[in-house]
Amino acid sequence: MAGISWHYVFKFIITGDAAVGKSSLLIRLTDQRFLANPDPTLGVEFGSKLITIPEENKIIKLQCWDTAGTESFRSITRSYYRGAAGCLLVYDVTSRKSFLNARTWLADVRQHADPHLTCILVGNKVDLCQDESELESNSNAERTSSTRVHNQSNAAKHKRQVSVEEAELFAKEEGLLFVESSAKSGLNVERAFEQAARDILDKIHRGTFDDDQSPGVKLSKPATGNTPNNTLSLDGVRSRPSCCSS
Ligand code: GDP
Ligand code: MG
Repeated sequence: MAGISWHYVFKFIITGDAAVGKSSLLIRLTDQRFLANPDPTLGVEFGSKLITIPEENKIIKLQCWDTAGTESFRSITRSYYRGAAGCLLVYDVTSRKSFLNARTWLADVRQHADPHLTCILVGNKVDLCQDESELESNSNAERTSSTRVHNQSNAAKHKRQVSVEEAELFAKEEGLLFVESSAKSGLNVERAFEQAARDILDKIHRGTFDDDQSPGVKLSKPATGNTPNNTLSLDGVRSRPSCCSS
């Protein structure tokens, strides 16, 4: 793949309630860091990252639009849904309200985005509710008493307001992919985007995403040689194989 910057460009949107960790997931993906006090997103922010799907031998440029989760920005946010190939629908596992509101965000996405869009439900902040066994093994080395561990794990469990089973069921009913993540530790952050990217690739192979069927999706096929074939550009985003910013 020498000389090739990317084979596909996928446009992603990240949506969900304010403060669930959307911006933090994007910063973790693009910069591998975590901010305890990030500035609230105003309108829409952008980040991009190259990922590789080894089994397909493909490099994919993810162009991610991080949207504000507050009501006042909702109409701006909606205009970014059009033409997205993938969506991260984020809630906070310690906030039941953010999970319940995911239904409204999903309805918004379904109303405004490409019907073939791939959506992954992401339960973020899972670091706040590690289970007992994880806590025990993490703290084995420095443990001074089993009471402390017990209290810690109870507090951690108490923080969880959405069970994995409930979220899985919702995802299944709605045809969404699902993962729990932590922008703080980095757990499953890249995996969430990769899982969605694989699903989009499958849709391209099956012909689900194509010029005729998907208004916001354009496929261009360079004619020759070493240039990436099936270059996908979305909603006016032109892929330029010579450019390699990530
Ligand atoms: P957004 O409004 O959805 O973009 O949320 P932000 O990314 O601004 O995050 C809101 C708050 O949650 C910030 O204080 C973050 O540091 C914190 N946060 C985000 N992700 C995580 C996470 O995975 N774990 C923990 N413990 N805190 C997080
Ligand atoms: Mg934000």
